[in-house]
Amino acid sequence: RAPSFAETFTGPGRRSLLPGGFGRSTFAIAPRVPMVMKGSGHWIFDEDGRRLIDLNNNFTALIHGHAHPEVTEAARQALADGASFGLPTAHELAHASTMLDRIRYMDQIRYCNSGSEAVMLAVRVARAVTGRDQVVFVRSAYHGTSDVALAPGGERSRRGVPEGVLRDTHDVGMNDLVGLRDVFAGHGRNISSLVLDPMPNRVGLVAATTEFLTEARRLCDEAGALLVADEVIALRQAYAGAVCAAGVVPDLLTVGKIIGGGLPIGAVLGREETMSRLDPFSPTGLEHGGTFSGNPVSMAAGAVGMRLFPRSEVDRLNGLGDLVRSSLAERLPVHGCEVRGSGSLLRVFPSEPGALGGKTFHTTLWWEAYERGLLLTQNGLACLSTPMDEDVAHDIVDRLADAVAVTARSAAD
Ligand code: PMP
Repeated sequence: RAPSFAETFTGPGRRSLLPGGFGRSTFAIAPRVPMVMKGSGHWIFDEDGRRLIDLNNNFTALIHGHAHPEVTEAARQALADGASFGLPTAHELAHASTMLDRIRYMDQIRYCNSGSEAVMLAVRVARAVTGRDQVVFVRSAYHGTSDVALAPGGERSRRGVPEGVLRDTHDVGMNDLVGLRDVFAGHGRNISSLVLDPMPNRVGLVAATTEFLTEARRLCDEAGALLVADEVIALRQAYAGAVCAAGVVPDLLTVGKIIGGGLPIGAVLGREETMSRLDPFSPTGLEHGGTFSGNPVSMAAGAVGMRLFPRSEVDRLNGLGDLVRSSLAERLPVHGCEVRGSGSLLRVFPSEPGALGGKTFHTTLWWEAYERGLLLTQNGLACLSTPMDEDVAHDIVDRLADAVAVTARSAAD
């Protein structure tokens, strides 16, 4: 029998084509990551023909799961009219009006191709507006792959990032009010922006407290710095953004993932006086291109996807998240584990930090979940999608609780 398409690229073949066998460092899972063949709704099908419930959703990007008929049709029609152009299209304006109808505290939007680009652009706008270089982040938070955004990560994240870039960044502990005040007291006059994700996964899926967000706003105002809310993930949590839902209005908002209907996208939103820096005819305008920025296929798919995620759907999905978390909260403590998160995001941790295998806990859990037909992200994050209902939520709880039980037992052996 001739090898199947999937078989051709498995094992050593894959390793020889891609560094280490991986196309993204975030795919990495030992000993070898399985390949996906297709997805439909909340299901994916792997190279061995197994069907799994997708809680990875391309790292939270897919709010409607896979191949939603209306999103797919919008993308297909746009593609049939030409994939991308050297002129703007009505699809970009339609997406912009959908976004700005929703996010009323912002006036304008500029599109790019990823969340990384959005954060990179927001930081550059803030630097240009303030005439300052320094940027403050929360320690360990992830804001994409630009040099500046890699600074708050650990040693591995900072490899290859120039010393000069690192020198211009500060990091503070999540919800550390004293640390935040200290950084602004010491460097306030040189700080261009504070970049905050209201629920950073890599910090342990801990929510920013209202006090922390409020103090961040006050310190930025006092220092004349811009507050950048990075909601590349968090936009799924609240209709108009999670930071705004906590009562704090940022100066710039970076988004991506769910706003593209599953296709590449990123965007920066802001008030007109700030966004005018991106006006190409402004005497102080910044350079910002991007061959595929605002491409009609991402725009058309994304606009439909966002219209299919009105406030009522955000609330329903967050309610399903509550159901999954509260059921897990009853079943996990006996295995020495707990669940964290809010809205449609959740993640399981050992109750005692470092227990149950420490660093290997999430790798073991990923495989045990996989064996039980659940796909988590490789670092343990899970998120829900709108094709799911209460029956699916209960199914997820059973499978995940089972996976946690086995993971905890194997760590104890
Ligand atoms: N900011 C945050 C908060 C993110 O979670 C991510 C990606 N997970 C990014 C930025 C980068 O987005 P992208 O992967 O689309 O470049």
